[in-house]
Amino acid sequence: MVQSASEPGSPRGDRSSLSPTHRRDQASPVTGISAAGVPVPQVSVRRSSRRKRTVTAYRDKDTIVVLVPQRMSRRDEVAVVDDMVQKVLAREARVAAPKGDRDLAQRAAELARQYLAPAVGQTPEPYGVVWVTNQQRRWGSCTPSTRMIRLSDRLKPMPSWVVDYVLLHELAHLVEPSHSAAFWRLVSRYPHAEKAKGFLEGFQLGVGQPPTDADDVD
Ligand SMILES: [Zn+2]
Repeated sequence: MVQSASEPGSPRGDRSSLSPTHRRDQASPVTGISAAGVPVPQVSVRRSSRRKRTVTAYRDKDTIVVLVPQRMSRRDEVAVVDDMVQKVLAREARVAAPKGDRDLAQRAAELARQYLAPAVGQTPEPYGVVWVTNQQRRWGSCTPSTRMIRLSDRLKPMPSWVVDYVLLHELAHLVEPSHSAAFWRLVSRYPHAEKAKGFLEGFQLGVGQPPTDADDVD
């Protein structure tokens, strides 16, 4: 018996013979802007002929890979891909912040590789990344001459995406020491940058301190 390729109820079902079946998975790079107006990571949509209904997504370095059924319409694909990307980002945001210096350095290396390396052409490597207890006014600091990065331990109870933002901010200073437009372009590669900036500013206002991120470069 020959199985019909047409989908019941699909207006394009009778034209599906025009498209080849049993194609190998295809990767189509897509970049875009999330609903919150921040850049999202590179997204690769792969159509799978083995996949009937289910859609899955996972992170592969700086790319979010979304697997969709071969016959899904383009319109459905756009909606479902955006949804899946947000889910992956939300899942990543729930991961706990690094507790010790070793975890912190490891997280810094991941962030540098994921968000900065593609833009800079190499992975910025700090000499060291440590938690410190003596930074009561600054969230983080970077000393470009020694390539040391220090994060205030006041960040420890905060969500991991906030800690990631401060880490990435200080890592970007290894590339761009000043708060130039090029610096903020680098930082904005991190999808939660604007949200995290707002979070930290709100926190500082709440404890009666003026928002500061202007003097974190030594
Ligand atoms: Zn800064």
